[in-house]
Amino acid sequence: MKAGILPNDDDSCGWYLSLPPPATPLTGAQSFDHVILGAGFAGLAAARRLAQHLPEREIALIDAQRVGDGASGRNSGFIIDLPHSFAAAGHGGALARDRAEMRLNDFAIATLRDLVRSHGIDCQWGERGKYHAAVEDKGRRDLDGFRRSLDRLGAPYRDLDAAALAAEIGTGYYREGIHTPGCILIQPAALVRGLAASLPGNPAPVRGFAGDRNRHRRRDRVALRPGAGSAPRACC
Ligand SMILES: Cc1cc2nc3c(=O)[nH]c(=O)nc-3n(C[C@H](O)[C@H](O)[C@H](O)COP(=O)(O)OP(=O)(O)OC[C@H]3O[C@@H](n4cnc5c(N)ncnc54)[C@H](O)[C@@H]3O)c2cc1C
Repeated sequence: MKAGILPNDDDSCGWYLSLPPPATPLTGAQSFDHVILGAGFAGLAAARRLAQHLPEREIALIDAQRVGDGASGRNSGFIIDLPHSFAAAGHGGALARDRAEMRLNDFAIATLRDLVRSHGIDCQWGERGKYHAAVEDKGRRDLDGFRRSLDRLGAPYRDLDAAALAAEIGTGYYREGIHTPGCILIQPAALVRGLAASLPGNPAPVRGFAGDRNRHRRRDRVALRPGAGSAPRACC
C-alpha cells in the first residue's frame, strides 16, 4: 500500500513535548490480523472497538508519527458538548439536528469519561465548561445570537458581566460573556497516549507506530502487504 502524502507537522507541540518519551516504535517485518492506519481519535476508536469484538486477534495501530503527535494530540483540548456551529435558525429540522448532535456529544463525553477514569489516564480531565466572551459591539451581538440558540435548545448557561468575568477568568479585558457548563478541557496528547496505552484485547493489540522525527525519509516508511487469506501483514 502506498501513501503519497504523509503528515508534516512541526516539532513544536508543547502538549506532546511535555509528556514522557513514548514506547519504542515497531521495527522489522511483523504480521498482524488487522492493521489500522492512523492513531488519531478515529483510529483509536476503531482499534478499541475491533479489539472488544475480536479479542483473540492481533491488531496493529500504525501512525506515520509518534502517537499523540498528530492533530488529535495537538489540538486545543476542548471536548465540546454543544454543536460546533448551531444549525438552529428557529425551524424544526435544524433544531432536531442540533439536539441530535448534543446527544451524540454527550454520549462521547460519557464514554471518554469512563475510559479516562477506569484506566487512570492522566490527561488533566477538567469539567470546567467554556467561556464565550466579547469586547467589541459585534462580538456582543454574536453573543446575543449564541444566547438565543442556547435558549431554543434549552441548553444551560450563565450570563457574566465584565466584573463577574474578571473574577472568574482573571482579566478585565472582556465586556461580557456566557459560560456553558458541559465542555471538558483536556491535555490532548496525554489523552491520545493514554487511550493507545489502554487498548483492550487478548493478546493486547500492538500499540505500534512507525517513524520518528525523521519520519519523512523514505527508509522510515512502512510497507503494508496483504498476507495469505484476508489477513494483512505489516512490514516496518
Ligand atoms: C489547531 C486545531 C485545533 C483543534 N481543536 C480542537 C478542539 O479543541 N476540540 C476538538 O474536538 N477538535 C479540535 N480539532 C479537531 C481535531 O483535532 C480533529 O477533528 C481530530 O484530530 C480528527 O481525528 P482523526 O483521528 O480523524 O485525525 P487525526 O488526529 O489527524 O489522526 C490521523 C492520524 O493518521 C496519521 N496518518 C496520516 N496519514 C498517514 C499515513 N499515510 N500512514 C500512517 N499514518 C498516517 C497522522 O499522523 C495522524 O496521527 C482541532 C484541530 C486543529 C488542527
